[in-house]
Amino acid sequence: AAKADGGGRFVFYTGDLTERAMARLRLEASLREAVASGAFELFYQPKISAATGTLTGFEALVRWRHEGALVPPSDFIPVAEDTGLILEIGAWVMDEACRTAARWARDHAPVPVAVNVSARQLADAGFAAMVEEALRRNGTRPELLEVEITETVIMKDVRHHLPVLSRLRALGVRIAIDDFGTGYSSLAYLRQLPVDVLKIDRSFVSDLPHAPDIASTVIALAQRLFLSTVAEGVETEEQHRWLADAGCDCVQGFLISRPVPADAAEAMVLASAARSGELALTA
Ligand code: C2E
Ligand code: MG
Ligand code: MG
Ligand code: MG
Repeated sequence: AAKADGGGRFVFYTGDLTERAMARLRLEASLREAVASGAFELFYQPKISAATGTLTGFEALVRWRHEGALVPPSDFIPVAEDTGLILEIGAWVMDEACRTAARWARDHAPVPVAVNVSARQLADAGFAAMVEEALRRNGTRPELLEVEITETVIMKDVRHHLPVLSRLRALGVRIAIDDFGTGYSSLAYLRQLPVDVLKIDRSFVSDLPHAPDIASTVIALAQRLFLSTVAEGVETEEQHRWLADAGCDCVQGFLISRPVPADAAEAMVLASAARSGELALTA
């Protein structure tokens, strides 16, 4: 039977593969075009103090404006990584985030902005210089920039990443470990790494308040190492309350706000500055 319809199935699979390869090539081509024409945009998601609700910073999240739609990073970052286009996209993201942070600090109040950095970017020999240049070009105080690297990426090659992160940290840039709890951090490595913030992965936050073991453990670990904690993906009041009670420093998620365009984020900066007179610079 396999032989009888073998020909047809072979053709079917070939067609399918070709179709997928073509789709991927088309995506790659439009991505190249997007890089050349500057079709990217940054959205900003606020982080607030879990205890007081004060605005403590934003995370910059890239979007691709393509054929009238906003394409989320999960749909193009992997291809950008494979093709190396992430280096150009990442440099644009860094520049734009630094520019925005400097503008808010000048016009309203100093609010830190966190930028996601992927494996390929961190491995690039020019990465630290690119960050320094973005800060310098925009007149951004390094304290206003935070760099987010996922736990899996950081721990994969600690020896290579250590000097890069140390160089940024020496400038005053803060380092956050993103999606914390999903990888394999050894305590020994965590002590060695120049890290300031642990971001509790959304999957553990969504377990709250019923299955709090991992969130509790991460908060205890962070306190032990004098690191601050941010819980990502907070969607309910119960989660927020649990995190505040557990001593988590900051919360971020749809409950507080979805990621929003720069002008809406700026309005939050203004409102917060008006409320408090001055913003807390550190979490
Ligand atoms: P991430 O850094 O862990 O960012 C958090 C993601 O969770 C964002 O998705 C955000 O929109 C989403 N999120 C925030 N709060 C909630 C919530 O309460 N519920 C749910 N269900 N989701 C929430 P987004 O913007 O699609 O980004 C996905 C990932 O893409 C990011 O994960 C990050 O790893 C990567 N990424 C985003 N922007 C950039 C960038 O500029 N450069 C690089 N290299 N990677 C980026
Ligand atoms: Mg992140
Ligand atoms: Mg995350
Ligand atoms: Mg994530």
